[in-house]
Amino acid sequence: MAYKLFIPGPIAVSDKTLQAMAHPMIGHRSTDFVALYQSLQPGLQALFGTQDPVYLSTSSAWGSMEGAIRNVVKAKVLNCMNGAFSDKWNDVSLRCGKQATALKFEWGKPIDPDAVRAELAKGGYDAITIIHNETSCGCMSDLPALMAVLREFPEVISIIDTVSSFSAMPIAKDALGVDIIITGSQKALALPPGLSLLSVSKRALARAATVGERGYYFDLVEFQKNHENGMTPSTPVIPLIYALRSKLEDIQAEGLEARYARHSRLNGTVRAWGYAKGFKLFPAEAYGSVTLNCFANNLGYDLSALNKVLKSKHHLVIDGGYGKLKGKTFRISNMGDETDATIAELISALDSALAETPKAAS
Ligand SMILES: *Cc1c(COP(=O)(O)O)cnc(C)c1O
Repeated sequence: MAYKLFIPGPIAVSDKTLQAMAHPMIGHRSTDFVALYQSLQPGLQALFGTQDPVYLSTSSAWGSMEGAIRNVVKAKVLNCMNGAFSDKWNDVSLRCGKQATALKFEWGKPIDPDAVRAELAKGGYDAITIIHNETSCGCMSDLPALMAVLREFPEVISIIDTVSSFSAMPIAKDALGVDIIITGSQKALALPPGLSLLSVSKRALARAATVGERGYYFDLVEFQKNHENGMTPSTPVIPLIYALRSKLEDIQAEGLEARYARHSRLNGTVRAWGYAKGFKLFPAEAYGSVTLNCFANNLGYDLSALNKVLKSKHHLVIDGGYGKLKGKTFRISNMGDETDATIAELISALDSALAETPKAAS
């Protein structure tokens, strides 16, 4: 039975997008592909706020996240950690054989710019990883404040994960001075999973050119070389690229400002609903994400029972908490194509399901 996803990725995909994927196949070295690839660049550059190319990687976001580490870290990377994804990036850096330092913050607390400055000032770093919007706990760090600190350390290449905030709010890569910005298809872009998008500054590319053992599949120099011919290094996931074209049309029709305002408004609607029910936000309130709400389960509901009712009676699912927060928090996405009407339906389903959900025994 079909049900709708309100988890923070993957999220619901529109029929228009699904139909776009059914386009007859083309060769990835054909002029048709080059035209398709090149037609996407202006829309993508506007979304990323950049003049640099936007590369399309056939992988989940982690492919690009790992690839960025392998491409630019020669000396030592600082991994800023405040949730499950950013914690894992430290593990990934170590697995790539890199020198990596963990700069840890409590889950739900933002990355503190002063702590970043103090650590970088110790010296020896040539790269940093930051997750803008920690999806695991719904915490959004202050990217402009963090980038202002990074401008004091020109030798440090910034690798910024905007996987769950991209296209839902303005993030101006060039104005902020971001070197490598990464997102994925299955979050706010509301495409199926399998495509990662990234944009890379010239100085990050120059760094990559000096790094050995970058491998092939995620080699940024290969991406750039192929980009110059309107192509990707290897055969890309062409159906998703057609879906991306369709989505960029949607985004252009809505307008960027309207899109950002819609995400912010719907996020506020869900947050107000949670507060009215008596739930607290899990992350520091001023740093709540704009694309999801991570509520503390302070009322002690049995969240798996809640999701069973939501799924069987209302044909939708929310998230019952990520990793160590399972059962302790629940997350509701407002990414993608949601509207006032669909969020109103969600809230009425949540009200009805909560009314018949037991409180957990604990
Ligand atoms: C979903 C997510 C990822 C991982 O994306 P994959 O596509 O599963 O590789 C990384 N970072 C953030 C912030 C995410 O929300």
